[in-house]
Amino acid sequence: MKANVLIVGAGPTGLAMALTLTKLGVPFRIIEKNKGPGETSRALVTQARILEHYQQLGVSDKFVKEGIPLTAVHIRNGGEDKAELRLKDIGGALSPFPYVLSLPQDVYERLLVKELENAGVEIEWNTELVSFTNQEDGVKVILKQDGHEECQFDYICGCDGAHSTVRHGMETDFPGGTYDQQFFVADVEAESDSLVLGDMYMNMEANGFFVFMPVRKKGIIRLIGIVPEDVRAIDFWEIYPTVQKKLDLTVSQVNWFSTYKVHHRVSEKFREGRVFLAGDAAHIHSPAGGQGMNTGIGDAVNLAWKLASVVKGKASRDLLETYEQERRAFANSLVSTTDRAFTNIIGQHRRGKVLRTVFFPYVLPFLLRFPSTRKGVFKTISQTRIHYHESMLSVGTAGKRRGGDRLPWVQNHNNYEALQSFDWQIHVYGTVKQQVRDELSSVSIPVHAYEWDSSVEAAGLQESALYLVRPDGYIGFVGEDVEDMKRYLNKFQIETFF
Ligand SMILES: Cc1cc2nc3c(=O)[nH]c(=O)nc-3n(C[C@H](O)[C@H](O)[C@H](O)COP(=O)(O)OP(=O)(O)OC[C@H]3O[C@@H](n4cnc5c(N)ncnc54)[C@H](O)[C@@H]3O)c2cc1C
Repeated sequence: MKANVLIVGAGPTGLAMALTLTKLGVPFRIIEKNKGPGETSRALVTQARILEHYQQLGVSDKFVKEGIPLTAVHIRNGGEDKAELRLKDIGGALSPFPYVLSLPQDVYERLLVKELENAGVEIEWNTELVSFTNQEDGVKVILKQDGHEECQFDYICGCDGAHSTVRHGMETDFPGGTYDQQFFVADVEAESDSLVLGDMYMNMEANGFFVFMPVRKKGIIRLIGIVPEDVRAIDFWEIYPTVQKKLDLTVSQVNWFSTYKVHHRVSEKFREGRVFLAGDAAHIHSPAGGQGMNTGIGDAVNLAWKLASVVKGKASRDLLETYEQERRAFANSLVSTTDRAFTNIIGQHRRGKVLRTVFFPYVLPFLLRFPSTRKGVFKTISQTRIHYHESMLSVGTAGKRRGGDRLPWVQNHNNYEALQSFDWQIHVYGTVKQQVRDELSSVSIPVHAYEWDSSVEAAGLQESALYLVRPDGYIGFVGEDVEDMKRYLNKFQIETFF
C-alpha cells in the first residue's frame, strides 16, 4: 500500500504522530537516523493533557503504570527544608489524570515503539532524510540507508528535533536566543538519611539552584542545575561537593551526566505547502515546567488528525492551515512565558534572588493553600488550559465554553469515554429537544447526550447547547442552531472517519 505520509524522526513527537495515524488508518512510513530508540532519560514529566490524548488512543494505562505521580515538592534554602508543596491530586476533578507524572523519556519512547510494533508498524531505523523537494502534487524525498532511495509522499512531517533537516530544507528562520549559563543534568543512584527520594526537591539559593526528582522506581534520581562558575564540569564528581553541601545525598553511581546550553526559539513557519514541522524541530525552550516534550506530542496529535482527514477525503485542505494557526500561537506564548520564568529563576539580578529566597520558600507555599491557586497552577502546567480561540476552526460560545476550548472533563458522566473514538462527535448536556433531534438526524455525526446536573454546570457547559467536539477533544463549534452547525461542517467539508 502506498504510504501517504513520511514521518522524519522517531523521538516522542514522531512516535506520537505514528500512533495517531495508525489509529486513524492512514498509511505512513516513519524513519529514524539512529539505530534504535533513545537511551537517556531527558524529559521526565508527562502532563495530564498528553495522558488524556493517550487515553483516546487506548494506551494511557500503560504509561501511568510505568510512571510515578509526584506527591510533593520540597523547597530548600541554605541546606534546609523551608516549605513543602503538596502535589497529590493537585488537579482535583479537572482531569482523569489530576497529577504530574514522572516518566523518563527513554521508557516513554520504548513504550510507544512497542505499541507501534504491536500494531504492525515497522520503524525504519538507520534511515536518514537527506533532502526533499516540495511540489504541487507531493513531496519528493531522498533517503539514505545502505544506499540512496528516491520516493514521493503526499505530505512529510519533520519531527526531527532541534537541528531539523526538514526545517533547514524549508529555509525558514528559527529566531530566539541562548541563555548564558551552562547547565548540568545527571541521573544518579543515591541514598539519603533525611530526603524522601520519591519527592521532588528544589534547592533555591541567592546565587543558584539545584533540582532533583525521582526518575525510575529503582531509586534513581535526576539532578539538574546551573554549573557553578568555579567548576569546569567535565564530569559529575566535580559538581558533587557543591551539591552535597546543599542536599543530604550520597551518590553511589552516575548513570548519565551531561552539560548543556538552553535555547529558546520558535520557527517562523510550521508549514510550507505539503511539509510540516512539529516538536523540537518547530520550537525549543527552557526546561521550566517540563513542557518541551509534551508540546511536541500535542503538535503531533493536532497535525495527525488533520492530515488523516485530508488524506482520507474527510475534510478540505483548508483544515491544514489551522495547524500552524493553533500550534505556533501556543508555542509562541509558551516560549515567552517559560523564557520569562526561567530568566527570573536563574537570574543573578535582585528579582531572581528575591524569587529564589523569598517567593519560592515563603510566598508560593502560602498561595498554594488556596484551591483556586492550585487549580490555576495545575491547568497551566498540565497543558489542560491550552485553547485555540483564535483558530478559524473555533466558532461560538455557550455557557463559559467557547469554540477552541478543551472539552471539560465531567467526572460524574465520564464524558471522555466517548472521545476514545478519536472522531468528530456532538455532545449535549441536558434534554435534546425533539425538533433538534429531528434536525440532527440529517447530520451523520454521533450524538452523545448526558444528563444535566450540578457537575456539568460546574464544568462551565450550557444546558442543551450543541457542542461539536473535534477528534482531539477540543470544541470546534458550539451553539444552539443545527443549521449553523451544518454550515460549519460544510465550510471544511467535514465528515467522520469511521
Ligand atoms: C537534558 C534534557 C532534559 C529535558 N527535560 C525535559 C522535561 O523535563 N520535560 C520536557 O517536556 N522536555 C524535556 N526536554 C526536552 C525533550 O527531550 C525534547 O523536547 C523532546 O525530545 C523533543 O522530542 P522530538 O521528538 O520533537 O525531538 P527529538 O527527541 O530530538 O527527536 C528527533 C529525532 O529525529 C531524528 N532525526 C534527526 N534528523 C533526522 C533525519 N534527517 N532523518 C531521520 N531522522 C532524523 C533524531 O535522531 C531524533 O531521534 C529535555 C531535554 C534535554 C536534552
